[in-house]
Amino acid sequence: SPIIVWFRRDLRLSDHPALWAAMSSGRPVVPVFIRDGLVDGLGAAPKWRLGLGVGHLAESLEAIGSKLVLRSGDALTILKALIEETGADTVLWSRAYDPESVKRDKDVKSALKEAGIDAQSHLGHLMFEPWTVETGQGGFYKVFTPFWKSVRGRDVPEPLGQISSLTAPQEWPETEKLEDWGLGAAMRRGADVVRPFVRLGEDAAQDRLAHFIENIVDDYDTKRDLPSEDGTSCLSENLALGEISPRQCWHAAMRRMNEGSKGAETFMKELAWREFAYHLIWHTPRIATDNWREEWSAFPWNEKENAEVTAWKQGRTGIQFVDAAMRELYVTGRMHNRARMIVASYLTKHLLTHWKIGLEWFEDCLIDWDPAANAMGWQWSAGSGPDATPYFRVFNPVTQLDKFDKQRSYVSRWIAEGRSNPHKDALKYFDAIPLSWDLSPKNDYPKPIVTADAGRERALDAYEARDF
Ligand code: FAD
Repeated sequence: SPIIVWFRRDLRLSDHPALWAAMSSGRPVVPVFIRDGLVDGLGAAPKWRLGLGVGHLAESLEAIGSKLVLRSGDALTILKALIEETGADTVLWSRAYDPESVKRDKDVKSALKEAGIDAQSHLGHLMFEPWTVETGQGGFYKVFTPFWKSVRGRDVPEPLGQISSLTAPQEWPETEKLEDWGLGAAMRRGADVVRPFVRLGEDAAQDRLAHFIENIVDDYDTKRDLPSEDGTSCLSENLALGEISPRQCWHAAMRRMNEGSKGAETFMKELAWREFAYHLIWHTPRIATDNWREEWSAFPWNEKENAEVTAWKQGRTGIQFVDAAMRELYVTGRMHNRARMIVASYLTKHLLTHWKIGLEWFEDCLIDWDPAANAMGWQWSAGSGPDATPYFRVFNPVTQLDKFDKQRSYVSRWIAEGRSNPHKDALKYFDAIPLSWDLSPKNDYPKPIVTADAGRERALDAYEARDF
């Protein structure tokens, strides 16, 4: 009888252990994607990007004589219906680690097992299962460096190959149409602006990895912190949806490291940061919703959508580094890591605004949105997380510019106001934003809503008053 492979955030045909197991059985395989509550609950950009990825996966499956069956509804109900329709007795999927997926998957697994179905989850989204990395005392890691020391020498299995054919079921179950799902609806006119920046699908991800290893990784140590450089892999978008697997990246980097590339080792360390984020969210799911350090719950953050928060979202704080970054986010659906740290620090420290407001904005705008990395990144920046930047360390967004954008290339790529000949990307921002924002490149560039120095003073005073 057939095997159902339930795709979620693992939209690839290579190095896919669950699909590999299904293929190797020689039995008919029914690949399925379910638009359930978790999909409906995604922010605008991640939901749109997921829709593109699902469409691309469907094409890849068709190219090997298979199909992707699309259904909407509660995952368990749909799987049971498909079992009934196809006579399948097995359901396989790649394991997920964020709290909402874990809850869903646990319920699905136990209900299917109860119904006599062989329900199995496989490793695929990570390299190191969160429960297999333990401190000497048997607990989980709360600090990255010892986590890294513990995993860096581990044997990561070689990636599995590409699936080139799957046995089709005698009859395909009915499928819904992806176009009818409207996954891009909330992007409105932004979709056309962001689309050229998307690297869609498995082949594009593999090309990017190859290009990165060949041309960029050796200088990764020196260039990865410069937002105007093409100095990083840009693979987060593909990793977030599983269009490439972490161990494919790991092994490509390791080969380069063994040829003497120092940058390749640093890149592997960044991949381990991704694993660490999942380690944390698995062991302490509340990192996604509550201050990881509980003492921060007493801190009087601003939790309202006030004029300062709006200016931050619109990239009109008058602080160039912050504004350039927020516009990069709006136009490309991504933001350079250095810039993410700067805007997060400005929001949580200079504007004393709760990190959750920033986390939710990223959740709405990022095409590489990842529940674990986003939560860890925000709590790190705010000072409320594990292994966080110390709360009293307030990034100065002006001196950071001198350090990381000396030539002001990043700033001039993204800010149009006050320039006689603005960069074409800076103008795209005005095509992407909601009409209700009523902004134009002809506006005057704003004065800082809170200056680097005044914001720092205010933040330090607030911390002192709380006596952390
Ligand atoms: P590279 O430098 O090429 O790194 C390779 C890969 O390592 C990345 O693709 C990513 O998967 C992983 N990685 C690198 N740095 C980190 C990190 N600090 N934490 C976790 N994984 C990392 N990353 C996301 O993928 N999704 C998010 O939603 C996200 N939100 C963030 C929010 C904040 C406030 C901050 C400070 C960081 C956030 N990050 C997030 C982490 C980081 O900024 C991005 O992973 C990185 O910019 C992606 O670019 P890249 O693929 O070129 O990275």
